[in-house]
Amino acid sequence: NSDKIRDTLTEEMEKHGIADKYEIRLTGCHGYCEQGPIMVIDPGGIFYPKVELENIPQIVENTLVNNEPAEKLLFKDPATKKRVAREEDVPFYKLQTRSIFGKNRLIDPNSIDSYLAVGGYQSLAKALFEMKPKEIIAEIKSANLRGRGGGGFPAAIKWDSCSRHKGPKYVICNADEGDPGAYMDRGLLEGNPHLIIEGMLIGAFAMGSHEGYVYVRHEYPLAVANLAKAIDHAKQYGLLGEDILGSGFDFDLHISKGGGAFVCGESTALMASLEGKPGRPRAKYIHTSEKGFRDSPSNLNNVETWANVPLIIDKGAQWYAAMGTDYSKGTKIFSLVGKVVNTGLVEVPMGTTLREIIFDIGGGIPKKKQFKAVQTGGPSGGCIPEQFLDTPVDFDELTKLGSIMGSGGMIVMDQDTCMVDVARYFIEFLIDESCGQCNPCREGLKQMMAVLTRICEGNGKQGDIELLEELGTMMQKFSLCGLGTSAPNPVLTTILYFRDEYEAHIYDKK
Ligand code: SF4
Repeated sequence: NSDKIRDTLTEEMEKHGIADKYEIRLTGCHGYCEQGPIMVIDPGGIFYPKVELENIPQIVENTLVNNEPAEKLLFKDPATKKRVAREEDVPFYKLQTRSIFGKNRLIDPNSIDSYLAVGGYQSLAKALFEMKPKEIIAEIKSANLRGRGGGGFPAAIKWDSCSRHKGPKYVICNADEGDPGAYMDRGLLEGNPHLIIEGMLIGAFAMGSHEGYVYVRHEYPLAVANLAKAIDHAKQYGLLGEDILGSGFDFDLHISKGGGAFVCGESTALMASLEGKPGRPRAKYIHTSEKGFRDSPSNLNNVETWANVPLIIDKGAQWYAAMGTDYSKGTKIFSLVGKVVNTGLVEVPMGTTLREIIFDIGGGIPKKKQFKAVQTGGPSGGCIPEQFLDTPVDFDELTKLGSIMGSGGMIVMDQDTCMVDVARYFIEFLIDESCGQCNPCREGLKQMMAVLTRICEGNGKQGDIELLEELGTMMQKFSLCGLGTSAPNPVLTTILYFRDEYEAHIYDKK
């Protein structure tokens, strides 16, 4: 659709003889999915949402020829019912801090020049020529950058450990984003692939690695295509390969496409899959920073973690650590989906409350329905009810509620949602995705599914809720990897906060 809009726009501009005065730039996702396709006209940042082909003549005539916005096509703020002309005044954007994702709107992901024009690769130059590898790791440590893939492990600890080991080392980007409803990493890879490459280059230099991989799910064809083009362009500009920018540092980067197994987001499973073996997790008696991919020291971070690195090197750890909470610094991108007015990708400082994300930025629940719960952290996360809407979102606070922040999936549910059904949906997903090599996860999930199905079908028995709790505790304690230990979360949190719904199904047969 965006291609057609570009072609029509070009024709219309040619008709008015102004085609050479403006550059049309196809960008990645702006985050406001609910309002796409979006057109922004600079200078001025005039914002047109839900652009359709028949709107183009009016937009060109008003904005480009007569220099005034096409009033009726501008964004209408649902709260005030007033038209908003500039992108920066649109409430959805105004309430965010888009230090990472905000650049998407400026960049043509297929043009390295467009990335360079917004200061791209300057952080790499700073790292290569003004900093020693140890200083880079110290900067990442002072920024307290924690892994955005879900675990929240401090990146600098892994980097430091990897840097201390000898021999060939690998840096890997986990782009195997598999949570239902989550597409933060996709938005970054499709819209700003050079940012990820730059982050990985800086990390590789800091750890003394000369080869890296981006492990990306094959269901992301545009992300793969844009990344492949970005790698080619970076090579042509001397930013990948030998003697990068004349610094003497060599680094090569490859893309490896995953088959879409959710469990391959787990570090050891991902590295096994990268080696061409079945993607099964292994026990981590030996850390991957010592013995990972090809039995060599390897450092794995996810897309968003790598995207933070150039920013920290550019603006400094102090600037970065001023955003967020005591133990969770910087911003976090969430994919806000489900029963919410403004679906899209939202970037806010850590510590922003669920209420601010769902109601102030997200615009609340459509059709004046009541909020019921929000499921955070993907299929291994939990469902959080209304009384906790003022919880600040960070790595630690959501864990206290029995959920996780995870990689940033956020599914909003309204009054019509059956919470037992939600739990069953996630368990069904996890049964498909469990690698099946350890009993607690493989059998525990199947047993949970059987109990949840009979409850949903009105055949629940006394003791079923307790049985689910017992199974959940067993899985948390004895499963081999994070998929199994966190898999009971949707069931345990829905029992914790919505036990009455389980009881209604079992005893009142509702
Ligand atoms: Fe496989 Fe589940 Fe065991 Fe993890 S916990 S190793 S996914 S069976």
